[in-house]
Amino acid sequence: MNLMPDTTREVKPAQEPTQQASKAADAAMIRRLTCFDVLTGLPNGLLFREHLSLMLRTSRRKGTMMAVMLADIDDFRRIKNSLGQAQGDSFIQAVSARLKATLNQGNALGDTAREPHSFSLARLNANEFAILLGDLHKPHDAQRVARALREALSAGLTIGGHEIFPTLSLGVALFPGDGEDVDNLIAHADIALGQAKDRGKDRAQFYDSGMNALAVDRLALEGQLRRAVEAQEFFPVYQPRIDVRTGRLSSIEALVRWRHPQRGVLAPAAFIEAAERSRLIVPMGEFMLHAACEQNLAWQRMGLPPVSISVNVSAAQVARSDFVRTVARALERTGLAPQWLELEITETLLVNDAAGALRTFSAVKALGVRTAIDDFGTGFSSLSYLRDFPFDVLKIDRAFVSGLPGQTRTCGVTCAIIDLSRRLGLEVVAEGVETREQSNFLAANGCHLMQGYLYSKPVPPAELERFWRAGIAAPSVLDPRT
Ligand code: C2E
Ligand code: CA
Ligand code: CA
Repeated sequence: MNLMPDTTREVKPAQEPTQQASKAADAAMIRRLTCFDVLTGLPNGLLFREHLSLMLRTSRRKGTMMAVMLADIDDFRRIKNSLGQAQGDSFIQAVSARLKATLNQGNALGDTAREPHSFSLARLNANEFAILLGDLHKPHDAQRVARALREALSAGLTIGGHEIFPTLSLGVALFPGDGEDVDNLIAHADIALGQAKDRGKDRAQFYDSGMNALAVDRLALEGQLRRAVEAQEFFPVYQPRIDVRTGRLSSIEALVRWRHPQRGVLAPAAFIEAAERSRLIVPMGEFMLHAACEQNLAWQRMGLPPVSISVNVSAAQVARSDFVRTVARALERTGLAPQWLELEITETLLVNDAAGALRTFSAVKALGVRTAIDDFGTGFSSLSYLRDFPFDVLKIDRAFVSGLPGQTRTCGVTCAIIDLSRRLGLEVVAEGVETREQSNFLAANGCHLMQGYLYSKPVPPAELERFWRAGIAAPSVLDPRT
């Protein structure tokens, strides 16, 4: 294969001198080693920048449009882990060949009547590729290429007998419009790529100038989060879980809030993503674990009936080798007995490293702590997770509950989840119960544990305590069926 830049026109490497053949050969070899990716033979990041600079000059001169695309293979680590090193390499080679073939195909670029676009494909790092498209007539041309690239991969690749259907996240910046120089265009394509991933991957995102503000905001937010951990600006609020058979509180979920010095009290939607990205979720999560255990013990000491307290844990926490020790330490330091702590995890956490998570949760279980699978039904909902993991509780996501009892198919799926939980010996909890109709439907179909605004929003501890005592004095206060 020709290792020269993968372009049809315009982007040509400098001519090599012919008079000193051996020097030229050396120079060519050095260039090959420093400018091309060994695994795929594609230009690397260095040469990509050179190509971009050349193409930019040409576009300026001719007054044409061009696009810089950054493309990430989604969930690459998981694919690589499941394939192993050697086949992981074959996978990258197959992806690069497929992308290249797609770019070569005139039909990917749409209008064959017109002059072909010039393009260049490069590999920047493990799972990131870069594509330059020159001589575009309108932004839509870039959109069409992005779609063709995504479809080419999602059609599937066969690697060592495994069928893989990779998806791509793409960030696109256009010239003119989205940047004036090499650095700017790359930075803006990268911001757009970040957005594509944040929005759930498997999509192409075009840069828009609003994103810049968002990226700056984000940086500011991360700085503020870092200070928030030290300044102890996080605090828990508590939402009761009700057993509608008795009308009593059966357990409590702790949910984090941030008392932001300027913006007031913030819910997790405003900062959890940034906390995950910056790993500040780890100290924040550890704080929540301690605070919740401490509060639960305080309630027990007040003579309230012992119930378990649930704490949400994120993937970044569980992935740490000291996670089980952190949980054990929280129990030790606060003196809460392990059966009164429950950890809530989501399915996405299991997908990335199921084997590691299984080891971790078996160890958590051995401590005597309960585990719950949160948001069930919205992620991958693999039944093998339910079979293999030692969960005690399954929480039906609000997305289902909100469709009850009006949507027939939602009712069907919800009843099936309730039945499945019962057969597996799991407690089943419905989240986000807001109406009596929802509660009645769930209870009639065998789900008696519920959380939601119908009973109580998440509230500060003193308010929860009042609610709790009222329920003990007169359970019907909490029971919407009466
Ligand atoms: P989640 O674990 O699914 O928590 C339930 C969310 O639904 C909470 O939002 C709760 O306030 C809200 N909710 C409860 N009942 C109702 C209802 O009837 N209607 C509606 N519309 N919403 C209801 P919140 O507190 O904003 O938390 C959002 C998410 O942030 C949580 O979802 C959880 O994934 C995450 N989170 C919260 N606290 C923590 C934490 O300490 N650590 C970690 N890692 N994540 C947390
Ligand atoms: Ca939860
Ligand atoms: Ca949930």
